[in-house]
Amino acid sequence: MCKIAYVLFLALFSNMATAQNVAITMDDFRLTDDPLLSGKEKDERILKTLAKNKVDIALFVIGSEAEKPLSAQRLAVWNRTNHIIANHTYSHAPYNRIAFQKFSEDILNAETVLSKYQRFQKYFRFTMLKEGDTQDKRDQLRTFLKRQGYKQGYVTIDASDWYVNARLIARLKLNPNADTKPYRDYYLQHIWERTQFYDNLAQKVLGRNVKHTLLIHHNLLNALFLNDLLEMFRGKGWTIISARDAFTDPIFQMEPKIVPAGESILWGLTKETGRFENLLRYPAEDEIYEKDAMDKLGL
Ligand SMILES: [Zn+2]
Repeated sequence: MCKIAYVLFLALFSNMATAQNVAITMDDFRLTDDPLLSGKEKDERILKTLAKNKVDIALFVIGSEAEKPLSAQRLAVWNRTNHIIANHTYSHAPYNRIAFQKFSEDILNAETVLSKYQRFQKYFRFTMLKEGDTQDKRDQLRTFLKRQGYKQGYVTIDASDWYVNARLIARLKLNPNADTKPYRDYYLQHIWERTQFYDNLAQKVLGRNVKHTLLIHHNLLNALFLNDLLEMFRGKGWTIISARDAFTDPIFQMEPKIVPAGESILWGLTKETGRFENLLRYPAEDEIYEKDAMDKLGL
């Protein structure tokens, strides 16, 4: 092999070995007015950031929220993009608190509201990523989803952006002029830390890179800092891919046989191996893990 070909081969190979991809998936389309930005302004900013970055995401919508007039108006705008509009139940009740019958009706009720949008696709994401607290409930729902033509809208990288958002809003309510940058910094380091954690699970359990789906929420934090988040990933050498592309990864067909079922798919697959138990906490992500650190920073 001549030297140039060898160098090219090395460059290609090392790129393949380290190529990391992440798609953005956004839950809980809720257009509440917050300090700094109204519901409509938040949505405009999020869509504008995504368009500027040429990033197509999956938006997991709660049916009852979608029925509100402003939400319907804004979903019509989403419907003119290449984003995916997907099902996140009608009432947002978590499956570990209600029976199969009621939960499956809740999914169909959301579909009634959302299926009028052309961008609606049958991806389903469980509320709070709780996929069933008994084996029966878990399996009944998996069968139901397949029969209804749904695919799992699994999360690979779970995090607590919603908690950072809640703390930011609480601060801004006390002091509308509060500096938001420390919240941005905390948010970015938190997402990067959780990304490395879940990517490490992928390497341990699957032995390969996966097309990640990051879970974040439609909220003030992301209206303000989504662009910074995308830039952070790119700065670390990651590629932002579309949610449509990410969902082609075989990991989204997998069904870990664990109880309680749910959390990140990578958490579930790790749990299923019965190994690496020392790496897993339950729930996988929650405010309890962030509270002390944010308290210490005075956030
Ligand atoms: Zn949700």
